[in-house]
Amino acid sequence: MDIAGTLASVSAALGLVKELRSIDAQFDKAELKLKIADLTESLSEAKLGLVDVAQELQAKDAEIANLKEQLQFRAAKLVEQGSFRYFADEHGKPTGVPICPVCEKKGLFLKLAQDRSKGAGGVTYACPSCKANYGYSGIVARA
Ligand SMILES: [Zn+2]
Repeated sequence: MDIAGTLASVSAALGLVKELRSIDAQFDKAELKLKIADLTESLSEAKLGLVDVAQELQAKDAEIANLKEQLQFRAAKLVEQGSFRYFADEHGKPTGVPICPVCEKKGLFLKLAQDRSKGAGGVTYACPSCKANYGYSGIVARA
């Protein structure tokens, strides 16, 4: 149940409480019991809804923490050059081969690797994870 569904359950419960107040308890015991059963059901649904909402909030907190961690990692360890990001050396300069921009969007910071499967003349740079091919040369960091 989402927040809107939970709010609807709570509203229904409050409506039932209003109805309970107007029942003459001396004469309408059957109606009173029925309304209390309805109220109990509405409150149970609201409670389940709140459990779902709490889980969603927890998941979002975890995602936010993960994204913050990635942003801090990017700011501390990576540097841009051209259209790629590289690991920075101790002076903050780009070094080596870039990380895969496709995998970076998924939160993975993987350096491209040389693909030598096509022999000495056909060495290309490819991502070890998603296999995206970045071509023959020109991607190693310039000093
Ligand atoms: Zn990749």
